Amino acid sequence: MSVGIAIVGSGPAGFYAADALLKLDIDCRIDLIERLPTPFGLIRGGVAPDHQSTKKVIKAYERTAQAEPVRYFGNVHLGRDLSLDELREIYDAVVLAVGAPKDRPLEIPGAETRGIIGSAAFVGWYNGHPDFADLAPDLQAETIAVIGNGNVALDIARLLGKTRAEMASSDITDYAAAAIESSPVKAIHILGRRDAGHAKFTNKELKEMGALSDCAPIVDPRDLEAGVPADLDERSRRRAEKNLATLRGFTELDPGGKTRRVVFDFCARPQAVLGDDKVAALRIERTRIEDGRVVGSGETRDLPCGALITAIGYRGPAIPGAPFDERRGTFVHEDGRVAPGLYAVGWCKRGPTGVIGTNKADGDLAAQQILEDVRVGGKSGREGLEALLAERGVRYIDYPEWKRIEAAEEAAAAPGAPRRKLVTIGDMLALLDEKRASTAPP
Ligand code: NAP
Repeated sequence: MSVGIAIVGSGPAGFYAADALLKLDIDCRIDLIERLPTPFGLIRGGVAPDHQSTKKVIKAYERTAQAEPVRYFGNVHLGRDLSLDELREIYDAVVLAVGAPKDRPLEIPGAETRGIIGSAAFVGWYNGHPDFADLAPDLQAETIAVIGNGNVALDIARLLGKTRAEMASSDITDYAAAAIESSPVKAIHILGRRDAGHAKFTNKELKEMGALSDCAPIVDPRDLEAGVPADLDERSRRRAEKNLATLRGFTELDPGGKTRRVVFDFCARPQAVLGDDKVAALRIERTRIEDGRVVGSGETRDLPCGALITAIGYRGPAIPGAPFDERRGTFVHEDGRVAPGLYAVGWCKRGPTGVIGTNKADGDLAAQQILEDVRVGGKSGREGLEALLAERGVRYIDYPEWKRIEAAEEAAAAPGAPRRKLVTIGDMLALLDEKRASTAPP
């Protein structure tokens, strides 16, 4: 009897786990269970819309999704449509690949002030994620601050700095493109609590900031004087060397008549958000790094800003039935094993770090563990899931239906753009049900 495996989440971690299972010498059936109608997780909803080449990895996921043992069940919400305990009763093994979709909170006074937006929400908004399509962030501000010195902060700042023409070949949502274009923003501040040498930016992404048509990067050369930190491992040291060279290059660029600026503020730790109702300023403390730790100097300044976006990392969702580490924001696990027959891969296991390919090793390990732990099947598996969903009237989306959504999005694309995304689950279902009605026999 084939082993029934459910993978919850169809982002990179879920797909790499499925692919690794397919390569094993076991008779298995793999069901990908996804909360949204649409697959691919962060590739669709997180990767910046102007980084289309990164999204090409979807081609490999597509082959996995269409392999004979694999089925896609979109629009099935664990915790709403069925519980984890129920899923574990149905499947011989369950792999959690649910990512880290929640923003790590900014824990400083005033952090609840209106106008503060987490990167999960902001990125989801410009990418047309159904959870955030109606976020409507207020970008009517001359200064916008982005907290964080990672690639997500760079993505956000770059998108705020790009012109409509520069976004023409992207799949940014129309409403986000319009809001960014009509924003009066002149200065986008990227704030790092550490020095330039400790920034987490990857160099390729940092360099892009120097190549925008109407936005100039601004760096204070004094912030680069400390050079490459002594406390870095080899890989981080190489990254720091390249980043410092790039930032040095930025100090030599002439901002000319460019309308917008991206200002890099290093050693700037957020201390309080100021503003009665809506954010008016961010109080920042000057810091220094001692033995790799951020140490405050007591010297503060207020940066007036009308919008504040945090890009300070993510947390996984807690799911009843799986032990959760509140501090790390991940499931409690031993090398990926959460409980008998229950595994975790990707950001919900490791935390929100690494590139897309980092998830591959997680998938390989989970597949090996399943091979060791669960040699024979016996549970109802796919038939059990289908019966439960039918009994509860859950309208799930299969892969051919997703392909119909994809075709409609591609057909609606503006010239030069890859797609115009449907941004509500209602619109996706309406499209499918319309087609179903129009193809139904009279
Ligand atoms: P990240 O690289 O971990 O950066 C998070 C930043 O937030 C760090 O600078 C961190 O500072 C700062 N931070 C955390 N808590 C803070 C606080 N309370 N106050 C002030 N600053 C705080 O995370 P990310 O940018 O969210 O990216 C997540 C992962 O996705 C990364 O591995 C990233 O490389 C990857 N990614 C890649 C791409 C790409 O390749 N194009 C694009 C997007 C994301 P400390 O260093 O001091 O902790």
